[in-house]
Amino acid sequence: MKKFIHLFLVVALIVSCKSEEKVNPKNVQNEPQKAEFSIVIHGGAGTIKKEHMTREKEMEYRQKLEEAIRVGYTILKNGGTSLDAVQKTITVLEDSPLFNAGRGAVLTYDGINEHDASIMDGKTLNAGASTGTRTVKNPINLARKVMDESPHVMLSGAGAETFAKAQGLDIVESDYFFTEKKKEALERVKASEKNKMASFYDIEIKDSKFGTVGCTALDKQGNLAAGTSTGGMTNKRWGRIGDSPIIGAGTYANNATCAVSSTGWGEFFIRGMVAHDISALMAYKNMTLKEAAQLVIQKKLPNLGGNGGIIAIDKNGNMTMEFNTSGMFRATMNDKGELYIGMFKD
Ligand code: ASP
Repeated sequence: MKKFIHLFLVVALIVSCKSEEKVNPKNVQNEPQKAEFSIVIHGGAGTIKKEHMTREKEMEYRQKLEEAIRVGYTILKNGGTSLDAVQKTITVLEDSPLFNAGRGAVLTYDGINEHDASIMDGKTLNAGASTGTRTVKNPINLARKVMDESPHVMLSGAGAETFAKAQGLDIVESDYFFTEKKKEALERVKASEKNKMASFYDIEIKDSKFGTVGCTALDKQGNLAAGTSTGGMTNKRWGRIGDSPIIGAGTYANNATCAVSSTGWGEFFIRGMVAHDISALMAYKNMTLKEAAQLVIQKKLPNLGGNGGIIAIDKNGNMTMEFNTSGMFRATMNDKGELYIGMFKD
């Protein structure tokens, strides 16, 4: 009898376990999947085609993109903030002559550099930006200081440089940013503008210059951040400022929706308020990040006449990279440490 009761209890236990499995199978997620953290970067959008790129050049870009994104990834993995990850990742790209930001910034009409940068905190909606600086080694560090150490959002030119010095940021001579290649690019653009009587808005001229850098990140605390840094456009003049330092156009972050960094034909990104538009479509129209980014980059921006791309992360760590040019330097890393690097359309 005892043996029979024992057998009965074992069978009952197995049956109850099985039915529990059915009610709550382990492989079904009740919540949509949420990444603990993630990071995405860009190194500019434009005419980036495989046939124009040597194997060596491609490797150089790949290595620098990987080096940069791993800096931010490590900060996030160790529990650091998305703001620090964005800032430090961008400084790696700024220090490389490969990209149109910091060291690699393109030349203005007068043959000098004028840098624009911005950063935004998705938790507080605080932001910092600097425009037209000529001697600040890492403009993204200045943008961060403007956000953290000043009562303002945007500082420009000489005033921004005075502030940078007072904050102890690295200041360099203008020849730090100079390369023969950039001088040649300026001469080429000037010549082609003259020959074709082309305006600043000539599509071929604009599309031959790319390399702005940007980063968006989600940290383990659920905070989003975005940052962008650029030398603007070759041959720019009259103190021209692009979208990169403009909050809502080149950079936007809001914990309620997403973090975005833009690259492309700045005048159109300003007019389309591209970065904020993506966030607004999510907030007011309940679109997913992908839907919102596609609508803005593949429809609204080209309808205005503009081209370029964005990188973005939503509050759940979903990443998207949308562009309407032939390529965009880009990379992502998720919380599993999986790395993706892309340059061309496919
Ligand atoms: N958006 C930048 C600007 O217009 C340039 C770029 O991203 O290539 O200043």
